[in-house]
Amino acid sequence: MSDIMSGIDVLVSEVGPRDGLQSIKSIMPTDAKKNWIKAMSDAGIREIEVGSFVPAKLLPQLADTGEIVQYARTIPGLQVAALVPNAKGAEAAIAAGAHKITLPLSVSETHSLKNLRKTHEQVFEEVKAIVALLKALPKDKRPHFEGSLSTAFGCTLEGYIPEAQVVKLGERLMALGCDEVGLADTTGYANPAQVKHMIKAIWAALGKNALTGIHIHNTRGLGLANALAALDIGITTFDSSLGGLGGCPFAPGASGNIVTEDLVFMLDSMGLKTGIDLAKLLKVREIVTAAVPDPMYGFTPDAGVPKGYIQGGNGWGIGNDTKLAAE
Ligand code: ZN
Repeated sequence: MSDIMSGIDVLVSEVGPRDGLQSIKSIMPTDAKKNWIKAMSDAGIREIEVGSFVPAKLLPQLADTGEIVQYARTIPGLQVAALVPNAKGAEAAIAAGAHKITLPLSVSETHSLKNLRKTHEQVFEEVKAIVALLKALPKDKRPHFEGSLSTAFGCTLEGYIPEAQVVKLGERLMALGCDEVGLADTTGYANPAQVKHMIKAIWAALGKNALTGIHIHNTRGLGLANALAALDIGITTFDSSLGGLGGCPFAPGASGNIVTEDLVFMLDSMGLKTGIDLAKLLKVREIVTAAVPDPMYGFTPDAGVPKGYIQGGNGWGIGNDTKLAAE
């Protein structure tokens, strides 16, 4: 698990096969999902959230998650993540062999009741049951368990959620036995100042190791600004979706998750190592567009990289003019 960061500065965690696909009506054929995941891995993506263990009647788009996890596990070097809404889902994820499981806890209790039909206390009961499941496994077989604080930057039902409440719920998740907490801007309400403030508050309460990643949506166009704010203070894992697949039901034309291609271009052009081949990544879009009719977003895919751009270099125009000129 820890060597997932070897040779890279930033981990780009692809969530399109889960977050993207769950947000569209079309059902991607299982084979296309497999091809997509394989191609992402070939392009250098090291972690993919490949599905969610929810009842098929709720999300028929993700009904094949068990098979997808099993397939993804056969790809060398790929960390396979899955979302689990409860202990039953965690059991299925463990059986399929997921390396990482994420349980979302909506910090807005109203949203939690509407989404998971559970109060916070009821979600904590699920967390306890999952921790018990994990403890029954040999240490080397235990998936990494993340409790994701969703709607952390505001909720469509409750509006602003006090930061102290988010921190308190994070403390509870860690006390119950999560390996880590995550921060998710489910609604696209976050701004860069808030992102920094929230991360610092969680680090102050739980320590830096308890929070390394962030899940950002681009609903209001602040996605990359928020990612940069988090990057600046030391967050190293960023969830994103190829082509921003999934869109946003509340804002037609706006992408859902931040766009993987744009995120990778930003990081790569800043001279940060992601291990991802941007040209190969851009090609992966063809697999998705051939499988589902839904729109793909992204500025870099539309505009291309700048003339003379060197991928995986030391950055564009940051004191490396000689190197750029020589190549
Ligand atoms: Zn999301």
